[in-house]
Amino acid sequence: MTYDSTNIFAKILKGELPCHKVHEDEIALVMMDIFPQSKGHTLIIPKAASRNLLDADPTALAAVMPLVQRVARAAKAATGADGIRLAQFNEAPAGQTVFHLHFHIIPIYEGVALGAHGGGKADDGELAALAKDIAARL
Ligand code: AMP
Repeated sequence: MTYDSTNIFAKILKGELPCHKVHEDEIALVMMDIFPQSKGHTLIIPKAASRNLLDADPTALAAVMPLVQRVARAAKAATGADGIRLAQFNEAPAGQTVFHLHFHIIPIYEGVALGAHGGGKADDGELAALAKDIAARL
């Protein structure tokens, strides 16, 4: 499988489509998932082009993981979540729907069931507020 640069995250990285941005640097873009599985569901999207983990450059992986940790900590602090799930899907049978590598940070709240992967769209005002709160704690 080859990388297709018309995927939606590539367009967001190029600024052709909007997002609720949390953070951007030379390594990655961090944004809110607009169909969150829980409050504070955040995505880390490395700028280096790859479909997923399987074809990623190990150097790019090494560069992005410290940011994944920072976002996990910031999302937990901003939401008061009880735990954080890190998820990452490779190819459609494994649940991948957008074919540009990304990491999910999914806050977990004790006693609260997770929503469906790719479920309903969240309120834009709430997403904007969460993006700001998480950014402030990065
Ligand atoms: P995956 O199934 O790992 O490929 O995850 C793709 C994720 O991207 C899903 O959780 C979707 O809810 C999310 N998503 C899809 N389109 C957008 C978008 N335009 N902005 C933010 N998140 C999106």
